[in-house]
Amino acid sequence: MPEKLPDHYDPTAVEQHANDRWTDPEPYAEADGVPDFDPDATPEETSHAYEYAVRAREDGEPFYFLDGPPFTSGRMHVGNAWGKLLKDCLLRYHRMQGRAVRARPGYDTHGLPVEVNLEQRHGFDAKQDVEQYGVDRFTAECREYVAEQAGVMTEEFRDLGVWMDWDDPYLTMDPKYVDAVWDAFATLYEEGLLERGERVVNTCPRCETAVSDSRLKYEERTVDAAYVGFPLHEADRREASERASGETANRAGGTLATWTTTPWTVVGNQFVAVDREAEYAAVTVADGAADRSDDGEDHTPASPLYVASERVEAVMDALGFDSDDWTVDRTLPGAELVGATYDHPLADRLSDHPTPRGEVAGADYVDTAGDGTGLVHSAPGFGHEDFERGRDLDLPPYGPVDLDGRFTDAAGEFAGAHVHGEGREAVLDALTEAGALLGTERYRHEYPQCPRCDTDVVYRAAEQWLVRTTDLKSDLLDAAEETTWYPAEARDGRFRNTVESAPDWNVSRQRYWGSPLPVWVCTDCGRDVVVGSRAELAERAGLDEPLEDPHRPAVDELTLDCPDCGGAARRVADVLDVWFDSAVASWASLDESPGETPRPDAWPADLVVEGNDQTRGWFLMQLVLGVALGGRAPYEEVLMHGWALLDGEPMSKSRGHVVRPPDVVAEHGRDALRAHLLGHEQHGQDVSLTSDLQGVETVRDRLDVVWNVVRFATLFMAEDGYRPTLALAGDADLDGAAGSAGESRNGQVLDRWLLARLREVVEEATAAFERRAPNEALDATLEFLVEDVSRFYVQAVRDRVWATGGEAGGDTAGGDATADKLAAYDTLGTVLHACVRLLAPFVPHLSERLYGALDGAEPTVHATDWPDADTLGLPADPDLLADVDALRAVEGAVATARQRLGRKGRWPVA
Ligand SMILES: [Zn+2]
Ligand SMILES: [Zn+2]
Repeated sequence: MPEKLPDHYDPTAVEQHANDRWTDPEPYAEADGVPDFDPDATPEETSHAYEYAVRAREDGEPFYFLDGPPFTSGRMHVGNAWGKLLKDCLLRYHRMQGRAVRARPGYDTHGLPVEVNLEQRHGFDAKQDVEQYGVDRFTAECREYVAEQAGVMTEEFRDLGVWMDWDDPYLTMDPKYVDAVWDAFATLYEEGLLERGERVVNTCPRCETAVSDSRLKYEERTVDAAYVGFPLHEADRREASERASGETANRAGGTLATWTTTPWTVVGNQFVAVDREAEYAAVTVADGAADRSDDGEDHTPASPLYVASERVEAVMDALGFDSDDWTVDRTLPGAELVGATYDHPLADRLSDHPTPRGEVAGADYVDTAGDGTGLVHSAPGFGHEDFERGRDLDLPPYGPVDLDGRFTDAAGEFAGAHVHGEGREAVLDALTEAGALLGTERYRHEYPQCPRCDTDVVYRAAEQWLVRTTDLKSDLLDAAEETTWYPAEARDGRFRNTVESAPDWNVSRQRYWGSPLPVWVCTDCGRDVVVGSRAELAERAGLDEPLEDPHRPAVDELTLDCPDCGGAARRVADVLDVWFDSAVASWASLDESPGETPRPDAWPADLVVEGNDQTRGWFLMQLVLGVALGGRAPYEEVLMHGWALLDGEPMSKSRGHVVRPPDVVAEHGRDALRAHLLGHEQHGQDVSLTSDLQGVETVRDRLDVVWNVVRFATLFMAEDGYRPTLALAGDADLDGAAGSAGESRNGQVLDRWLLARLREVVEEATAAFERRAPNEALDATLEFLVEDVSRFYVQAVRDRVWATGGEAGGDTAGGDATADKLAAYDTLGTVLHACVRLLAPFVPHLSERLYGALDGAEPTVHATDWPDADTLGLPADPDLLADVDALRAVEGAVATARQRLGRKGRWPVA
């Protein structure tokens, strides 16, 4: 029988009630929806209700949802919760649609943030401190810390009613997972898609590792930018005439004026770049014009000074020349400068420099209209574009700077100096001495920093392992086209652009806590030995058993026999980028044997749901490895949501600009928080919260109305001993073919109308879920309950349910009044039973409570079927809907008039 509900919606009590229901084994032991269900076998971290709901669908059509593993950062803010709630909402819907949903949560457990956290705890400043402490102790602490953080997050997700396989999350640090990572790496290697080579990468000199470009932070600051002059080599005629171009410039001599915000990189200068098409000016500076310094020497650069025409005035002004100090002799296209040679101003201090005499070269990265001189000092060892162009020019990149940001011994007198400190000053001094520092200017810019420790990064060339993404470009674009995106335009816009511009992917990191790079190099013949699993490693290393823990330092200690020469192969010390870990999740999380990479039956995933920052992250990296190893995208469908804003700004843990779920839950409950977050448009749009939680309060008010409607209905139904069902009057059997709704039991036109509206709402909600816009489903359902059911229908049928007559329960007993009341009960019963199901994915606790009060037949609302308008026989009656709309418009006008007269309007039942 229906249960009379308390007068007011109390989220705390409701949520407690639902939780008790979910964790009490009894209802599930007795239920027959899953005949052999044994609550005792429910895993510890899982509620009986979840296990039951999953088991009830295990023969359904499989639905493979792949959880993007969040980084284990411990306590989360509402923004972190939003994505998981969106996933939960969609998973609940699919279960109700009868799908056998795979919902294994994951955690991204490796990486620099974990290490930095522990370093801070111990007060470590550099990798040396880690080495001294012991890499074994350090990585053991990383593992422990991560497990702790993951535990905290799991608790928080569960607390918000997120139903996933919490007893069995996939962790990227699990040995089996690392096997899958190694297998992927080894396969890429075999297929020639991995390259070991020098690349210029952002490195953090404190963390002493490469850092992803897309993860950098930027800090705005003012620096002294330096104008550096490179003196043209005064070639004799014969030498000059051997070159196709640039000879005129060389014969005339003079100075190439360049500009840099990082003067220490001049050490690595190997060419000066110009725009071949642009116009340059040869500027003659009057003798003695720069003789303004205290040392009494003339610092006037050798004329002519070459500067892009567009920049002449600005540059001469910045160098402190008056307008009558200089004249433009002539102009020439950049092409005429190409090939001109110059002497590196610091060549005599850098004995190892491979190009003491540099050349002017054309390059497409030269901007003659922006900052600087339009001639670009280029150091292939210290700049990405410089490196690429330098490679075309066959210049061996020269970058004598170590991982810790200090000049190496190859840098002669600069050795040991930090490029962001004394090294920078020393180079400036040396340039001044060499007469090459034309001047400096204060310059405001944004400098990239390590996202983990806020240290200024250094661009430097070093040996890295790269996935040859650029080789796969057209396959990646084709594969992306086979996927479905919500919003659709993100696929062909934002994502396509990202794929098109994706560079080769540097996957090596010079750290400790990560999936170890599975590469050993023969110390005799230099051959790589790449290992695809722990088992293979054990075999090659002559171990009896595979390593239980494949992390550093255990793997470092193993030496393998070179299969070519029998020499000893030693491990490359790097670990893998964490994105490589998460990029294999679509098959690694399936826990199948890694030899199958990546073709287990369930693959690819049906759906992934993540924030829009993942177009450059997980969506992309997964696509790369999916295409490289499986020949297609590893997901069918992508739902991309936005960011959570608080008072208009992104939430940030480090700035303390966050709202945490418990803050909201304490005041308005979990369901109101969920409904608020899920009520926003999800397709790439940001969700906004305000500190006063106004939006949560608004949705909470609507849930109050829902509560009151069900309370009203169950109160009278209970009085009359009426048992509400989803099935319509006299049609208790859902499979039955008995009369369709609204026609049974002499239903009034209003009943028929409400049922016709319900049909609309059910269809709308279903369609909304199918286009991955659950917010529209929620909105349609709440709007219906508040406006149509509460404000209109319930008001109109009050008199009918108040009618006294014979005992309810019989169809005709008690005459017309009773029949009429029963028809209203039938209608309300159907509507409310359907609506608690429609609401279940959003407000699982409240739905459970209301479903129980309505005397539902299943042990949990979450094991019921999603309502289907046809199965329920709901009437389609557009004419009636239109008529009632018109009627209500009149009523609305009347209500307004009444209010004007100072009388009370109608309110939702309360
Ligand atoms: Zn760092
Ligand atoms: Zn060898």
